[in-house]
Amino acid sequence: MIILDEKAYVENILQNPKIDPSKMYLFLSIYARYLHHENHMKKTEIIETLHTFLGRNYPRYNPADWAPHLEKYADRSDKFPLCKCPGIWVTQKEAASVEGIHDKVLERLAFTLLCLAKFQNYRNPDNHNWLHYSNGEIYSMACINTTSFEKDLKLGRLRELGLIAYAKKINNLSIQVLYADGDSENALFVSDFRKLGYEWRLYKGEKYIRCADCGILTKRKNNNQKYCKDCSERSRNERQKIMMRERRKKG
Ligand SMILES: [Zn+2]
Repeated sequence: MIILDEKAYVENILQNPKIDPSKMYLFLSIYARYLHHENHMKKTEIIETLHTFLGRNYPRYNPADWAPHLEKYADRSDKFPLCKCPGIWVTQKEAASVEGIHDKVLERLAFTLLCLAKFQNYRNPDNHNWLHYSNGEIYSMACINTTSFEKDLKLGRLRELGLIAYAKKINNLSIQVLYADGDSENALFVSDFRKLGYEWRLYKGEKYIRCADCGILTKRKNNNQKYCKDCSERSRNERQKIMMRERRKKG
């Protein structure tokens, strides 16, 4: 998962600590860097703060299980500054290049590559539109379900169209986006990289909404819909628990 604004990400979770247990490791590694760079904490204080957070917010928290991880996060907390990217702009020329592909799946893939390259440019101004992510990560952000064979073929199609270039470095495939063009008016601002494929669909006029709780883009199934599937299931479960408790009290 790519987090553009790590400072805002940590502060949102601290305010509202509903966190998916599978994302806990990622959160703690960023939180450790936050405590170092924003709060100027020493290593021992960072470890203590992370333990306190887990004690309050992780089911069946066992300090001994977590200790080696927290030690590692605190050790590395000074390595990288926090990323505070508010989002990236896609220009009209760039959007036109993507639309010019005239293939819905390839357009989502090309749009995703463009956003990733622009984010890498933000992090390193000498980047020149390169990106280094695994195929799995790219396709997941592009919201495209396909086999690994098809993944290579689709990227190959974009290369045949002259839209991307490859550089093979040992085991890692790097891709350069050749249709990035900052020299035209801004067309759309992208500040959430979780569902880049849906951002493109929304731009193309398809019916998508941002969940009123977690903010993720989700396909709109009816006019009253406010939440994504996960958030509406969670709030339904919470309502049921409250109802059961009320019934037990009455009984
Ligand atoms: Zn949601």
